[in-house]
Amino acid sequence: MPLLYYWRGDVYRADLDAGVGFHLNQATPRLHAIDVGDSLWAFTRRADGAYVLVAELVVHARTLNPDGFHYGRYRLWGHLARSRYFAADAQADITPLIRGLSVSSRGGVLGRAFQGAAAVRSLTLADHAVLARYAAALPTEPRARLLPEEQLEAALVEEGTAAFERILLETPAGVGEARRGQLRGFAQRRDRHLVLALRELYRGRCQVCAWDPPTGYGVELCEAHHLRWLSRGGADAATNLVLLCPNHHRAVHRCDAPFDWADRAFVFGERREPLVVDEHLLDAS
Ligand SMILES: [Zn+2]
Ligand SMILES: [Zn+2]
Repeated sequence: MPLLYYWRGDVYRADLDAGVGFHLNQATPRLHAIDVGDSLWAFTRRADGAYVLVAELVVHARTLNPDGFHYGRYRLWGHLARSRYFAADAQADITPLIRGLSVSSRGGVLGRAFQGAAAVRSLTLADHAVLARYAAALPTEPRARLLPEEQLEAALVEEGTAAFERILLETPAGVGEARRGQLRGFAQRRDRHLVLALRELYRGRCQVCAWDPPTGYGVELCEAHHLRWLSRGGADAATNLVLLCPNHHRAVHRCDAPFDWADRAFVFGERREPLVVDEHLLDAS
């Protein structure tokens, strides 16, 4: 079942500025009424008061967040290649389009009908077709793109702030100044001890497959991975880090594999890979 989500204007603008992820967190279980492969459509209210369509996330996974997670227990992950953010500026007001859908939004200010838990609404397939037709010609939002997160993590841990800065510079779109400042702060405070402590705790093994390079090869090859990605607001803290072999690390990033806190597993479509070596407190809230 497709969904419609009302993204509060101020929150949308702050999220875009901070660097969007192709995912959405909410406190309402209705978020998980959507099926994998279905679309979540998001609209918002522009600063000039016009309502505009800003995203279609084609869902590739539904996961749970840790208890007490600030943005809610339920999370959807959009398929990276199939999801799209639409440019908000050039659109005409879509109030008639939204009022024409089966979701009840009659009368009053449109946004008020979508407050609180009502921000997430179920759509019919006919509604979905209407939105898909409208969206077909919309230009995409150039700022909505992911940072090269593996490179960022490597620079953070293995290289200097110069390498980190270069990556930020080479990625001009999608990261606002406030977020850049925060990321730079991480780079300057980066704490190699976190990685060294993780390697010591797990004796260099991958937490997913237990591959053990120190025993096999006499070298440390496993890498620290931020469960909640840095570019998505994650902290550079032990509670947000796991130790992964290079293969698992690459797979997690290339597939944008969600981490499901319900069973502490990475989700690769139908395949789930739990942490088999799991000895430290994780808390990505
Ligand atoms: Zn592994
Ligand atoms: Zn990583």
